[in-house]
Amino acid sequence: MKRYIKKIGKLNKWQYLISGLTGSLGKINRCPGCNAVSNIKVDKKFFHVLHACQDCGLLFRHPKETKQQMDKFYQTEYSEPGLTTELPAQEELARLLKTEFAGSPKDFHYHINILRALGIGDGAKILDFGANWGYTTYQLCKAGFDAQGFEPSRTRAEFGKNLGLEISTQIPQVEGAFDAVYSCHVLEHVPNPEQTIRDQLRLVRSGGMVLAHTPNGSLAARKADPEAFHLRWGKVHSVLLNDEFLKRGFGQLKHYIASDDNPEELRKWSQKKSKVGDVSGSGLFFVLVRP
Ligand SMILES: [Zn+2]
Repeated sequence: MKRYIKKIGKLNKWQYLISGLTGSLGKINRCPGCNAVSNIKVDKKFFHVLHACQDCGLLFRHPKETKQQMDKFYQTEYSEPGLTTELPAQEELARLLKTEFAGSPKDFHYHINILRALGIGDGAKILDFGANWGYTTYQLCKAGFDAQGFEPSRTRAEFGKNLGLEISTQIPQVEGAFDAVYSCHVLEHVPNPEQTIRDQLRLVRSGGMVLAHTPNGSLAARKADPEAFHLRWGKVHSVLLNDEFLKRGFGQLKHYIASDDNPEELRKWSQKKSKVGDVSGSGLFFVLVRP
């Protein structure tokens, strides 16, 4: 079975490679966010090219999949080693719940400290956007937040029942229903991150926050470590966000943008004034405050 799965994985790699050649023929290279055609080439992997949109600043791969192809990919094919897409066996889940995920790759206590540093307190309504099989939602609830999960993959959302969670496969529609919307390594997988962030902002109340962790596509990070940057985009990450994209699209909102998500630094941030810190690290963390 394992060998068969490996074979399928290899086949998909070839399909992806060939799609790079055939998918670019006759296709206008438009930004998946703002639809602009003015782009510059940033990086290349065989037939796939990473472009920077000159209008909105988003980095995106060309050719790219359609929204339908992306949906199918995440429902059926997406695989990363470890607990991101592999669902834990009952025994392992029992152990994770018993230890409250301590020391596991899905230990979110650090992230909970980030929320607290931003003044998000007990009982706050939080939407875990891209909840996967529920490990973050579960830990948020345990920590005293009123957390709810949203996950488009039906299999993973369903698995949440094993953690006592009702994870929704649809984005909640109630405007301003949440104090915060948090997504951890989700925005680099969506077809149009700008639209997704706008949807998230609509879900938080006035003064509420949209926060996210995502791989860093900022120029400073590319300069700091070109090799790591080259590995950061491709088949799985078809878009990369960066400081420019956030400032151009959401700069009118109070914001915090940095590679460093140190809770001590966040505690010092007044939220009345925007702050852009060092963005040369591998990750990008940002907070947007809804007016
Ligand atoms: Zn654009």
